[in-house]
Amino acid sequence: MGRLNGNYLIKQGYQFLRPHVEKVKWAPLVTVRWILPRHRFFVWLMAQERLLTQDRLQKMQITQDNLCYLCGLEKEEHKHLFFKCDYSRKCRDLVHCWCLAHLPAQQCCEWCLKWRSRNQARKKLIAVILAALMTNI
Ligand SMILES: [Zn+2]
Repeated sequence: MGRLNGNYLIKQGYQFLRPHVEKVKWAPLVTVRWILPRHRFFVWLMAQERLLTQDRLQKMQITQDNLCYLCGLEKEEHKHLFFKCDYSRKCRDLVHCWCLAHLPAQQCCEWCLKWRSRNQARKKLIAVILAALMTNI
């Protein structure tokens, strides 16, 4: 670790000691100041998968039910609730029709997170809408 031909490489030593943290792709959303603080905090928790979804409550033995309250079909966990649940997909589709009609629906969230729009105000507005949508789902 950290040695090359007897020389210690600080960069490799640092990377060895630093805990591996997966990059959170929702992080850019949290930095948009236009987003209401309550929504920003929610997205921050969501990005870290720290929301009290049914699967987490069940692990904490707070509830015995882990089904999604929105569709009642699958286990309520972060990925299901925000990306796979039929109800949240319908909500995203409605928002998509309203403000992102030029993009394929399945690429809506990914596109917003990659910040490809040249129009800064439009990007911020989309971030505000996405954060409000996620919070209200
Ligand atoms: Zn569901």
